[in-house]
Amino acid sequence: MESQIHKIHQQLMNKEISCTDLVQGKLDLLKTNTHNTVNSLLDNIALDLAKKVDAKIGNGEEIGLLEGIPFGIKDVYMVQGTYTTASSDLLKKYKSPYTATAIQKLLAAGAIPLVKENCDSFGHGSSSENTIFGAVKNAINPDLVGGGSSGGSAVNVAKDYTVFSIGGDTGGSIRQPAGYNNVYGLKPTYGRISRFGLMAYASSTDCVGPIAKSIEDIRIVLNVMSGKDVKDQTTYPSEKISKENSIAIDEVKSVGYFKNFIESDAISPEIKADFLRTIDKIKAKGIAIKELDFFESDTLVSTYYTLAMAETASNLSRLDGTNYGNRIEGDNLKDTYSITRSENFSEETKRRIVGGNQVLSQGFSDEIYLKGLNLRDQIAANFEKDFSEVDIILSPVTPNTPPKIGDSLKDPLAMYLSDAYTVGFSLGQLPTLTAPQGTATGIQITAAQNNDAKVLQFANFLKQLI
Ligand code: GLN
Repeated sequence: MESQIHKIHQQLMNKEISCTDLVQGKLDLLKTNTHNTVNSLLDNIALDLAKKVDAKIGNGEEIGLLEGIPFGIKDVYMVQGTYTTASSDLLKKYKSPYTATAIQKLLAAGAIPLVKENCDSFGHGSSSENTIFGAVKNAINPDLVGGGSSGGSAVNVAKDYTVFSIGGDTGGSIRQPAGYNNVYGLKPTYGRISRFGLMAYASSTDCVGPIAKSIEDIRIVLNVMSGKDVKDQTTYPSEKISKENSIAIDEVKSVGYFKNFIESDAISPEIKADFLRTIDKIKAKGIAIKELDFFESDTLVSTYYTLAMAETASNLSRLDGTNYGNRIEGDNLKDTYSITRSENFSEETKRRIVGGNQVLSQGFSDEIYLKGLNLRDQIAANFEKDFSEVDIILSPVTPNTPPKIGDSLKDPLAMYLSDAYTVGFSLGQLPTLTAPQGTATGIQITAAQNNDAKVLQFANFLKQLI
């Protein structure tokens, strides 16, 4: 698909559409949509901004590329004065006191925020069913889940309700819903985009990233959001990726894939066959293919969930009804904390808080948490070795196609295992893009840290190939 941003920019400049009509049209679609993608609409803000863009165009002024482009925001980002609920009862009435850096940069470039999007509560989930706003329905088949946790964002893009959306990815939450809804979704290198103003799930793997219908739109939005931010000490300065650089393919000479991912019993025969067919096509273009050894999926999933649960238990401890959140009074302060948290967190979130506190508790932390950290180091070392041998690692996004709505809730362990192919790249803090090609749920393209441009280059190559 061609760049929607360039196309709309031209239409606005040529006065083929007004920004107000564009924004109103998308707001109407969002309002009446039956996929449960909306937690709250930002209609007043959006229409005010659209009017200003129309006035500028009317005056014959130049507008920037992102000016007037409508976008969606996963409901875990602060946008000053708007509700930021994390799809939870606890924060159902919480209003952001400030705006997240990544979103602020988009606003400064003139993009227009339309909607806070439905997602798994606090990012906890792989289906966008763990939400007080109703399960997000898949864009292609509404009987299936939208994927998660950034399900509302991926479905909005797939249905053209937003031109692009900003998701959040801790262990796959941009890449997996992008794959389930046939759109692009990028988890950049950890630290490339500031996390300031993103509600923390697991701080050591949380990433901000775009979901869009074209690689070019991913590139544009990535460039705007990237950069060092004094409010997030893990950020680093990065160079903008030029359009030319995102198309050049000569840097990619070798591609690897994890043999054990493909030989696993858990992968569907169709996804396996499609993936191997894609590998053959790449080989036929003269790119060297290397089979790589990697940790078993079970080890990746348990390492990720051990660390993610520990970090989320710690991060969510501030949500006690006193500092933040919907307070429910008990007989004394301790009771108040207990009732507030018991009543307002979902089952899935409580499972993670209990699990995480177990991981961190005295007497267990050496056995569990430190072991998790050690495995993470081994995983990172493995990636370092792999990327000394290959330029790109390819992987399916998921072992299976999206489940029916309701099925994941019955079996949380099966849901955790469905993250087998995404969580390893998160632990490695690597740039990984879902491209909606190659298998029914897409293909993940991964490069070494800070090689986000190479990921986009390979995506452009793959698009031509398939
Ligand atoms: N499904 C994974 C989890 O529940 C990833 C979620 C995410 O990236 N926010 O932890």
